Amino acid sequence: MKDIEIAQKSEMLPITQIAQKVGIKAEAIEPYGNYKAKITQTSKTADSQGKLILVTAVSPTPAGEGKSTVTIGLADALSAAGKKTMIALREPSLGPVMGAKGGATGGGYSQVLPMEDINLHFTGDMHALTTANNTLAALIDNHLQQGNELGLDPRQIVWKRVLDINDRALRHIVIGMGGKSSGVVRQDGFDITVASELMAILCLAKDLADLKARIAKILVGYTYDGQPVTVSQLGVEGAITTLLKDALKPNLVQTLEHTPTLIHGGPFANIAHGCNSVLATKTALNLADYTVTEAGFGSDLGAEKFLDIKTPVLGKTPDTIVIVATVRALKMNGGVVKTDLEQEDLPALQAGFSNLKRHIQAMSQYGVPVVVAINQFATDSQNELERLQEMCQAVGVPVEVSNAWALGSQGASKLAETVLSSCQQASSFKPLYAQNSSLEEKILTVVSKIYQAKNVVYSKKALQQLQEFKERGWDQLPVCMAKTQYSFSDDPKLLGAPKDFEIHVREFVPKLGAGFIVALTGNVLTMPGLPKKPAANGIDIDENGKITGLF
Ligand code: ADP
Repeated sequence: MKDIEIAQKSEMLPITQIAQKVGIKAEAIEPYGNYKAKITQTSKTADSQGKLILVTAVSPTPAGEGKSTVTIGLADALSAAGKKTMIALREPSLGPVMGAKGGATGGGYSQVLPMEDINLHFTGDMHALTTANNTLAALIDNHLQQGNELGLDPRQIVWKRVLDINDRALRHIVIGMGGKSSGVVRQDGFDITVASELMAILCLAKDLADLKARIAKILVGYTYDGQPVTVSQLGVEGAITTLLKDALKPNLVQTLEHTPTLIHGGPFANIAHGCNSVLATKTALNLADYTVTEAGFGSDLGAEKFLDIKTPVLGKTPDTIVIVATVRALKMNGGVVKTDLEQEDLPALQAGFSNLKRHIQAMSQYGVPVVVAINQFATDSQNELERLQEMCQAVGVPVEVSNAWALGSQGASKLAETVLSSCQQASSFKPLYAQNSSLEEKILTVVSKIYQAKNVVYSKKALQQLQEFKERGWDQLPVCMAKTQYSFSDDPKLLGAPKDFEIHVREFVPKLGAGFIVALTGNVLTMPGLPKKPAANGIDIDENGKITGLF
């Protein structure tokens, strides 16, 4: 049965009942219909007490890894074991839903509901972010039109427009055509909403006041004489924050097995920081004894940013890191093509294990216990599953098979037991880099310790920017690496565990409101395109409103 068919056949509990499970009072939620609600009283209670489990994965392949599926299955299994559990996930972006990936609400018998709503417009947060972002863009262009008091150089405006759609035709555009009354002509471009700074800010803001303070700090561009201009100089942080007042509230939904789930914020992990909101994670930590959360793509991207960017703001480090691996993904990392994945291939599995091993090494450096979860597919052979477990044991990592996709919580009960005992172990979190080290030192640390690259090569522009950032005092902000998700290197074709490669930093983008500097590596783009056969071609709705094809 397809994911969407399982979802449509299942019965949801009223959202008020889900809220009650974790002690959220009726007056603390704003229902959006019967099965979705915004939480109005978030993390204002005492310091977080619950345990935090971070789910990450091996390098993704077109074969699919099932991080969300395992996250949801594990949380349902913890709930089934009598533990008060919540999930904190990201909201899917419409780009991949209509593009290559389809929905992002788990799969099989490990899903969050209502899956159609969550995958489409949900509670409108993405639209609010898009509107807020583009309102700021319009205000900047209006400033140019109305006399340009700040002396903003139209050639040096860094604030781009956004849409939550994969639309490559909008990457580079010219605006202001049509004469004097239609604006100032300049080159502009669109990013996808989930790569926007406002999305990152929403995910890192502690409350409304922090949201506004961060928005005020956003760099919009430079003056003709090279001075930075921020939103506070335009005087519009109040208006932009107002547009986000509801988007800042976490959204409550449920799993197929009724585990309370917060879905809030959705930055991509390759071109942004890849984690759901601090507010949602904090709220879950306050309300539940166990919070299971997920960071995007492989551990080199989402998890590194969770641990180096989100953790210092969250004020809580994970008690266990779960790395999701599949026999299929490792075989692809070992050289097998997608069409041959169903045949048993132990040598390829062994070769591809090098990828999982590097992710285990990367995560082990943080001093948090690591567990491997093998997300079982029906086509995996028993020999392959056993061999993979043996290889994990040989490197000293606890490993369990999860069959939550087929069986729901039952399929992840052993994984839950292992994670529970792992959470009891002493965890002594060690940050990867010192917050006050320089940008170059931070990049070198991530690149050498997490990717295991031999070197970093900066473009001429990147070197100039490094110098400029030093002069401006932005040199000690954390780094948000923008890199392909498919490889530890910046070349998507180098699978497995590549050696002797260099990372090429072509440009930096200062995100002063988010509080980090994005380093663009290789050819990674901040506005994706659609594939030859987009998922949109398979999506339909009948005369009764029944949707098909959202996977
Ligand atoms: P990720 O979070 O890693 O992107 P998802 O959990 O969203 O992955 O899963 C991606 C797709 O793969 C979903 O359509 C899901 O149904 C499918 N999938 C995940 N795990 C399995 C499995 N064990 N067997 C079959 N399909 C699976």
